[in-house]
Amino acid sequence: MSMDTHFDADNLKSIREPAGHGGESGADRDEEKEEAAQIGEQVIERIDRGTEQMRQAERRKYIDDSKKTYLYSRCRRRLKYAFYLPTELEREYCMGKRTIKDIVVTCHIMQPCNKWHVRGERRRPIIPEFKYLLRGETTLHELRDKFLCSADFCTMVPDYEDATDSSVYHVEQYPSNFLFIHDTFYIDTRKANSQDISKNIREFMARNRSEFGPTKVVNMEGVRIRDLNFRLGFPYNYTHQGLCEHLFQFTDLRLMNAQDEERLVDYPIKVFDQSRAPKCAACKMNAPAFVVQNSDRLPETLMLMCNVCFKTFHYENDKRIGTFNAYHYFCPQ
Ligand SMILES: [Zn+2]
Ligand SMILES: [Zn+2]
Repeated sequence: MSMDTHFDADNLKSIREPAGHGGESGADRDEEKEEAAQIGEQVIERIDRGTEQMRQAERRKYIDDSKKTYLYSRCRRRLKYAFYLPTELEREYCMGKRTIKDIVVTCHIMQPCNKWHVRGERRRPIIPEFKYLLRGETTLHELRDKFLCSADFCTMVPDYEDATDSSVYHVEQYPSNFLFIHDTFYIDTRKANSQDISKNIREFMARNRSEFGPTKVVNMEGVRIRDLNFRLGFPYNYTHQGLCEHLFQFTDLRLMNAQDEERLVDYPIKVFDQSRAPKCAACKMNAPAFVVQNSDRLPETLMLMCNVCFKTFHYENDKRIGTFNAYHYFCPQ
């Protein structure tokens, strides 16, 4: 849109050039001044009107664009395979080729939601974070290793001590975990110091038989996807670090096609990734390296910070400033 700011050049001249040259009378000069002031007001009014029109046009365009973006993202969200990785979407279709007799199933690992719901707050939908293709021959250990959680990579080593040894991380110190599928607790016993952390849950369920059916406990070792008893689309649970829970579900169970990968070592195949790696709370760019607690220089009780921001905020000439607790952390993504 063009702005109509054109006005008479003679009028502008009359504004710019002071009146009174050529021995005119005082009354004439006053009249000219008044006229010039009027023209100036008219010009300002036109400019204001033009600016307002431009602002309204920009706002209309912004609303139109956001409506289009919203509709596009909404339509795209409804498409089942829209966010699959290109490697999976571009897989070629092979006609008439024989392949291995096995099944393929998709496993959805949901985004963790460990925040208490506040009354009146809008509920966040539980959406997948990762999707993997599993073969019937894939083991439960291979599936379990696909659960990445920051709780595994925390330490209790303070910032002034060395944390280069992997044994200080929680994944090594507290490796106990289980997968609960249908009616069975599959216990991971690969690490020497792992325990059966489902024991208390099973005892609680046994005491409340009216609400829970019978359950089984099985070692995860050697169990394959084809051995499982599960319902498609039903939520199951992975628990680790005592109380950290992750939901997952199986969908799209089918026979293997000729276009599927045949090599078992390639499975689980990642076909969908909507994960967001945690970032430093200060710079929002770097991977966090410290968990900072109860710092009197930070707005929140617990914050993740990168090495640079942490040192800048809490150290001056290698001397600690203020009161805080900080522990080493490793970003898994
Ligand atoms: Zn977790
Ligand atoms: Zn930072």
